[in-house]
Amino acid sequence: MNTTADGINNKTFMKALVYNGPNSIVWEEKPKPVIKEGTDAIVQITTTTICGTDLHILKGDLPAITKGRILGHEGVGIIDEVGANVLNFHKGDKVLISIISSCGRCGFCRKAMPSHCLNGGWQLGNRIDGTQAEYVRIPYADNGLYLLPGEVEEEAVVMLSCILPTGLECGAMNGQVKPGDIVAIVGAGPVGMAALLTTQLYSPSMIVMIDIDDNRLKIASSLGASHVVNSSDGQASLKVMEFTQNAGVNVAIEAVGVSAAFDICQSIIAPGGRIANVGVHAKAVELHLEKLWALNMTLTTRLVDGGSTPMLLKMIQSGRLDAKKLVSHRYKLSEVIKAYDTFANAQKLHALKVILWNEKAGE
Ligand SMILES: [Zn+2]
Ligand SMILES: [Zn+2]
Repeated sequence: MNTTADGINNKTFMKALVYNGPNSIVWEEKPKPVIKEGTDAIVQITTTTICGTDLHILKGDLPAITKGRILGHEGVGIIDEVGANVLNFHKGDKVLISIISSCGRCGFCRKAMPSHCLNGGWQLGNRIDGTQAEYVRIPYADNGLYLLPGEVEEEAVVMLSCILPTGLECGAMNGQVKPGDIVAIVGAGPVGMAALLTTQLYSPSMIVMIDIDDNRLKIASSLGASHVVNSSDGQASLKVMEFTQNAGVNVAIEAVGVSAAFDICQSIIAPGGRIANVGVHAKAVELHLEKLWALNMTLTTRLVDGGSTPMLLKMIQSGRLDAKKLVSHRYKLSEVIKAYDTFANAQKLHALKVILWNEKAGE
């Protein structure tokens, strides 16, 4: 036991996955996080996972993230300690951690855009230490955590930290998917798959999944895509126009973040259609206004805010949303380096979401 009679945890070190500069991560001992503000909570991680964004960080694509940072912004865990001003949570509660920390008081929070919170936003595994660790400090715990009933499957629920709300809010909701719509999703990675699952909540008549990886397209078919297109031959747009008798699609969701994917969206959008960008773009794309200007089309971008999380949690609990199907691999948290290798070689190893479970949780 690490806990004294008065409930104060005297364990001062933990293991964590630390970013050590481009292409270098280490699993090493770090000080266990402590409460810094009254609104903080310390959570013992029980389940976490790796996001595509973590791979971008590892490659050095996000230079603002500095050496020594503990990575990870997804997780489920048990509250270990709460600050004096945390009202909704108590030691021992099982919680879901949101990627977004929000103060609840600034102008953006008041406008329901907590992703742009002036005191928060995407902090975990970015500006502050993240969830790929035995413990994590969660700022503004009352806003950034969700209480979980005991019986939920952690592997399913951990998809609510980032990818499912991202697919829904930035993809299906921004794209305004309506019953009967024809939807194309470019990119069958975890976020594209999350868009595929959540788009179906709006009953489209056709969902075309586009990717360069046949294995991922096979999974997309099993998750509800009515059509799949391998885009590696550069003919994806032509094929989609064929499927749709040259009508194009009502909604095109870009879930890659490269110009080739954005170009497909632009070339298949129907009059009145919506292009919902989800992908993180590191480079400029060409906007083909010479074709789009007369199409009455809308282009949207956004960050995930997480406002849909309570609804998605209910959908998972009721069995309406089978988020566990996104899990391809499972590792112990101490095997996180191996898990990164698997996720980085996703095409070769058929990886989608890689679950990490803390074998020491509960100690
Ligand atoms: Zn993420
Ligand atoms: Zn705020």
